[in-house]
Amino acid sequence: MSYTLTSKEANQVLKELRKTYRVFAPKRFPKQGRYSDTDIIKYDEISTVEEIEFKEKSTFPAKEVMSPIHRTLFYFTEEEYHEAKGNMKPILLLGRACDINAQKVQARIYCGNGGFDDPYYKRLHDQVKYVLMECPGGSDTCFCVSMGTNKTDDYAMAIRMDEECGLKVEVKDPSFDSYFADSEKCRFTPKFIEENELSVKPKKIKNKEILNKLKKDDMWREFDKRCISCGACTVACSTCTCFTTRDIVYGDNTEAGERRRVTDSCQVAGFDQMAGQREIRSRAGDRMRYKVLHKFHDYDARFHEGNMCVGCGRCIDRCPEFISIATTVDKMNKAITRIEKEEGKQAK
Ligand code: SF4
Ligand code: SF4
Repeated sequence: MSYTLTSKEANQVLKELRKTYRVFAPKRFPKQGRYSDTDIIKYDEISTVEEIEFKEKSTFPAKEVMSPIHRTLFYFTEEEYHEAKGNMKPILLLGRACDINAQKVQARIYCGNGGFDDPYYKRLHDQVKYVLMECPGGSDTCFCVSMGTNKTDDYAMAIRMDEECGLKVEVKDPSFDSYFADSEKCRFTPKFIEENELSVKPKKIKNKEILNKLKKDDMWREFDKRCISCGACTVACSTCTCFTTRDIVYGDNTEAGERRRVTDSCQVAGFDQMAGQREIRSRAGDRMRYKVLHKFHDYDARFHEGNMCVGCGRCIDRCPEFISIATTVDKMNKAITRIEKEEGKQAK
């Protein structure tokens, strides 16, 4: 069933929903962007419909709700420790189709992977319901259609903000019907983006020989100089999942503190440092190769569920060196074609 609500009615429904759920949505933070006078749009808890940013893609992804940039795992003293309980109130997460599809990727990595559930992610995953925000058209860095993440049916409700008619809501999950008992019914089903300006078609790597040659290919050396290893692309990425841990010792009692889980990045130097200071990928180009192959080959090779990348384009928007993952995939495609030809000649 679908409904149409005025702004006042929508806020009344939101008020009722907030008694049971924490409601997270993309929200604009004026003048907090990278440059002076630019805004940032990030996920935060909302209390009014007016706070929701409907038009522009968020700077940072919905994963910040499910796997925040840092969270406390446990508190310790010299004698004991207590696990942090976290907020167990159910979550309503508003996101576009690519954002909801990105959570499927995150769940694939964090839940059941290798027979193990990450309890901190699972805890949130089990209490989240999605509200699909109809995408009004992405930006020139989006390529969700190429990645097949422009559509989803994994949502409890779907919404569209129409400046003239107010909020349209499709309710798919019957547990939400009662919130709309007094609302005016209408005909509304969400539309999905069918075309992006940008198209990205990663080529299949046919065998291990080609993969091994691609790993050694000179194409990656370009990034040794261009990439400054800042990690901004992975922090903004909808699907990156790496984290590390940090112990925070309290200033007034150095025997007590907390262990935090903190977002990490495979693009930062020292990410894979081992005992004896040994690193597997010490050059920026090697780290770039690792990220790109992880998104467009390794994930599918392991899970057989397509690309890990959902084509949100946030990494392109955030890179201070204007490195585009779309262009990099293009270069990788050309390298694969060249290696395939060389392999063909050798076979003759
Ligand atoms: S790699 Fe880039 S385009 Fe793909 S999901 Fe991550 S941020 Fe989005
Ligand atoms: S944001 Fe750009 S410069 Fe920074 S690590 Fe990613 S690709 Fe390299």
